Amino acid sequence: MNAPISAPNVVLDAAQEERQRQLLMALDQVLPPHCLLHRREDTTPYECDGLAAYRRVPLAVALPETESQVQRILQACHQLGVPIVPRGAGTGLSGGALPITDGLVLSLAKFKKIVEIDPYARTATVQPGVRNLAISEAAATYGLYYAPDPSSQIACTIGGNVAENSGGVHCLKYGLTVHNVLRVRAITMAGEVIEFGSLAPDAPGLDLLSVFIGSEGMFGVVTEVTVKLVPKPQSAQVVMASFDDVETGGNAVAAIIAAGIIPAGLEMMDKPATQAVEEFVHAGYDLDAAAILLCESDGTLEEVAEEIMRVTHVLKASGATHIRISRSEEERLRFWSGRKNAFPAAGRLSPDYYCMDGTIPRRAIGTLLKRIEGMELQYRLRCINVFHAGDGNMHPLILFNGNDLDEWHRAEAFGADILEACVELGGTITGEHGVGVEKINSMCVQFSPEERDAFFAVKRAFDPVGLLNPDKGIPTRARCAEYGKLHVRGGLLPHPDLPRF
Ligand SMILES: Cc1cc2nc3c(=O)[nH]c(=O)nc-3n(C[C@H](O)[C@H](O)[C@H](O)COP(=O)(O)OP(=O)(O)OC[C@H]3O[C@@H](n4cnc5c(N)ncnc54)[C@H](O)[C@@H]3O)c2cc1C
Repeated sequence: MNAPISAPNVVLDAAQEERQRQLLMALDQVLPPHCLLHRREDTTPYECDGLAAYRRVPLAVALPETESQVQRILQACHQLGVPIVPRGAGTGLSGGALPITDGLVLSLAKFKKIVEIDPYARTATVQPGVRNLAISEAAATYGLYYAPDPSSQIACTIGGNVAENSGGVHCLKYGLTVHNVLRVRAITMAGEVIEFGSLAPDAPGLDLLSVFIGSEGMFGVVTEVTVKLVPKPQSAQVVMASFDDVETGGNAVAAIIAAGIIPAGLEMMDKPATQAVEEFVHAGYDLDAAAILLCESDGTLEEVAEEIMRVTHVLKASGATHIRISRSEEERLRFWSGRKNAFPAAGRLSPDYYCMDGTIPRRAIGTLLKRIEGMELQYRLRCINVFHAGDGNMHPLILFNGNDLDEWHRAEAFGADILEACVELGGTITGEHGVGVEKINSMCVQFSPEERDAFFAVKRAFDPVGLLNPDKGIPTRARCAEYGKLHVRGGLLPHPDLPRF
């Protein structure tokens, strides 16, 4: 998305200037001058993440180089009551790294060290600013790689992946970030060093590692991560199937899983999406198909040959009109290049796009796609669909022009409707991009006030003063009342005493 919908703050008022002065004085004791940015031209590049519709300039940006500096920054801000937003590469799509106007952005960009690769234990210990792909590149010498592969893997950091519990094409077979991280070291807002998990497959005590992964930078600042590595498969092949109806394609996904096959990747794109990417990367897609499905098998040569045969059989029985199987590594990568470039290709169709991230039971894929078609008419906006079909993780991309405020409001309402449809179909409002600021209102639809209070209680256990990435992820009761779409159980409106605006 290109155009700023919420205009960034331009000048600091007197109170903010005083706050900034105090903050800089305190951080001056902790950081060398080259690690602290405060001039407007230096802080502006940090005003947003991948959800560029929302922009805010922070009081300052800290770029520490050591863990002890991170700890002292947190302690200083804790004492001053200054909120902190941790930041990796800023590729997040839900506004998780959006600055707080009166706060500090804490960038982990300088934490780029691969601390250790242990090929015998098949683990890598890395600093949080290491790029996702850089882990696999470093492990390649040992025939190993890090399986979770967000499409942004060339840029996004492992710290961001831990915070968002990121997924990718390979997560259907190999699991999400939470299934591939053994240990996390972090620092709380009060400056306490905490560690969850261990180098062993399990750790004593409560499983707080899985609580921490996906906490969107609200519980602690990650300073080191140990991940699992897996052997690179001997071979891989991809089947590309065409369907003349999106619903039939969606049902084929459910049929593959029902047949007991767990492919290494199972992704779907609708016709507008294939048309957009074909012009961009020439992947060889069937442009007459209403939808195409990409299904990858990996393993030994024999395993792949057998699985491809079974997949082909299921796809034909499910109504595929045309099937192609990659005949070389070059062709396999070409088939995937379209899917991997779908987001940038959407940028060619429209000045702006709004990427949704709902997850639904696989059997409901066809139903949701049909409902989205209806919403396109209702909101007078186009929507293209690319998604991790095997995980039921949908990425409808709503196309709009950000210079037109009415179009943006329609896009926002369209997106919220899609997420509500996901909840209604038995799914959830986020699959892998997080809640951030983007989906905070939709949390009111998904969760009851009691559930949201429980989330706040967990947040308070890590950050009692509420200074770490505040006002994101969990909506307050007042916010939900204002949004007007409360979780209604048994027809009873919760807390009728709360004022509705
Ligand atoms: C083109 C494109 C494709 C994408 N494809 C995928 C995909 O396939 N799958 C997927 O899951 N996501 C995808 N994303 C979203 C994004 O890349 C992921 O959410 C990623 O994990 C963000 O990493 P980052 O380093 O950029 O984090 P940022 O955007 O900088 O931050 C994200 C969140 O993590 C927190 N955070 C960052 N670092 C730390 C830290 N060290 N300690 C504590 N909190 C921290 C931030 O506060 C923020 O809440 C895509 C994004 C783009 C732009």
